[in-house]
Amino acid sequence: MTYRKPARPPKGKTYCRDCRKYGFYTRRDAKRMEKQYPEEQMRPYRCPIDDNIWHLGHLPNAVRNGEMSADEWYDAAGEVTA
Ligand SMILES: [Zn+2]
Repeated sequence: MTYRKPARPPKGKTYCRDCRKYGFYTRRDAKRMEKQYPEEQMRPYRCPIDDNIWHLGHLPNAVRNGEMSADEWYDAAGEVTA
């Protein structure tokens, strides 16, 4: 696995203390970051605590725990995939 550090911090990045991870103010910013790590297959999803923040992550815990499928999760998060 290779991690490339961006030359400069991406715009619109913040830190979500509730989720203890980076967040983005727009889905576009999240997607921009995602493109830097294509092999990670991360997806933007809305922060469950703060509607104004997008996170970029692998499968959420609820999916890992088998509580719901990834599709159900992203539907619930309001993501439009098309
Ligand atoms: Zn969050």
